[in-house]
Amino acid sequence: MRRFDQSYIDGGFRPVHGREEMAIIDPTTEQVTGQLVLANEEDARLAVEAASRALPTWSASTREERIDLLSALADAVEARADVLTEATIAEYGGPVEQARWRAGLAAINFRVAARLLADFPFSRRINDTEVVAQAAGVALHIVPWNSVYNVISVKMAGALAAGCPVVVKASEFSPLQTELFTECLHAAGAPAGVINVVTGLGSVAGEALTAHPDVRKISFTGSTPVGKAILRGSVDRLQRVTLELGGKAPTIVLDDADLAQAAAQALSIGFANNGQACIAGTRILVQRKQIDAFCDAIHKAAEAIVQGDPRNQRTTLGPLMNRRQYERVLGYVSKGLEEGARPIIGGEGRPKGLDRGYFVRPTVFADVTNDMAIAREEIFGPVLCVIAYEDDADAIRIANDTPYGLHAYILGKDTQRARKMASRIDAGRVAINGLSHEPLAPFGGFKQSGIGREYGLAGIEDHLEFKAIGGGF
Ligand code: NAD
Repeated sequence: MRRFDQSYIDGGFRPVHGREEMAIIDPTTEQVTGQLVLANEEDARLAVEAASRALPTWSASTREERIDLLSALADAVEARADVLTEATIAEYGGPVEQARWRAGLAAINFRVAARLLADFPFSRRINDTEVVAQAAGVALHIVPWNSVYNVISVKMAGALAAGCPVVVKASEFSPLQTELFTECLHAAGAPAGVINVVTGLGSVAGEALTAHPDVRKISFTGSTPVGKAILRGSVDRLQRVTLELGGKAPTIVLDDADLAQAAAQALSIGFANNGQACIAGTRILVQRKQIDAFCDAIHKAAEAIVQGDPRNQRTTLGPLMNRRQYERVLGYVSKGLEEGARPIIGGEGRPKGLDRGYFVRPTVFADVTNDMAIAREEIFGPVLCVIAYEDDADAIRIANDTPYGLHAYILGKDTQRARKMASRIDAGRVAINGLSHEPLAPFGGFKQSGIGREYGLAGIEDHLEFKAIGGGF
């Protein structure tokens, strides 16, 4: 059994000061596979102090030094991509192909930042004024348990490029992925204190970190309620806060779409990462006259889903992350039935042949209206809704009638029409005919999906303060 009892502080792995422990459970087998010793307030303090000590030197580092570190980080995570992929499968239940793709994103994030840094304008002249971009200070990155490597790396890449030392507060539900990833970060050889990683509870290590006066920038990815609590807590210190929060993305199926193809795409967009993705398309909007045909197409497309042990190459849908998630998602399936929605596939109970593990039946509800709880709240599991619309304007109205605004999808043949619709949707990203990911483009949410943007140039700018120095030329 593996024991996770170290933080990464000041350039090395140090014993955790916390005494509280938590069992780590494989979501596929429900077996205990490890024990996590949770970092506490003392670990949080030491991590911020190490980062603060590193700030004067790292914020004054040259462009070349930063590019070298970012490139070394990319090489280091790439070198262990197989090990990182394995850990995602074991700890998270991510199907092999998706886990591999997500592990690969980390190197891309570091390389993109290195490339952008090559000609990033840290200083610009405006008449007699020089506008200087200065590192914001010690950056705290609070990350969730899904897509661990991608979330840690995209925030870290922007911060390091900007000259900010980083403290990562990793999720208590991903210690294996965090530890292996941190070993890669260590191998890249950052100066002591520039990268620090602690794994502990949000209510203990997380709160101690956000409350530390030396933390000048907080970038948080996680649920909307926790994001709001962090923003509220930051008021007295006026820390710069970026929030990447939940979503309830619409997938609009236009009436010229090939329904068989659209149904298959809608399922893969909705069930990606076992349905545990902030960008999942969970509200499938279909023109009313095509609803029956589309539901038939979903039925057919669902035959391609292979649910089970994520270690199996053929598996497309693994278990949920933990018991809490499992119970929460099943609760939404019951709620959908109570609200009068009709399951086209799935429903309550366990999937056939899977008596162990946090597996729920992949479920698609029809007869859903956009005011039902299953259409409004983020479920974070493989539970999707089909909602009828009358015409394109109605589809846009329903798509935007949500507290969230992280992502949207449009499926259809007439891409001009799809692009026109995209311009009227309130979401940080709109993908036409598939799940495209452009790491150079900004990513973030409208409305309650967050504040600010990361990825590409936005990720670097997010960690800078701008200073205008007038005169003296
Ligand atoms: P969560 O909000 O429960 O936890 C996220 C992180 O915050 C964890 O590290 C947790 O320990 C920490 N935390 C909790 N309370 C805290 C507090 N009071 N102070 C400081 N830190 C605290 O989210 P989760 O369950 O880990 O992840 C799932 C959520 O993340 C979903 O809502 C999903 O949509 C969202 N998410 C968003 C994006 C995005 O880019 N927008 C990406 C991935 C996940």
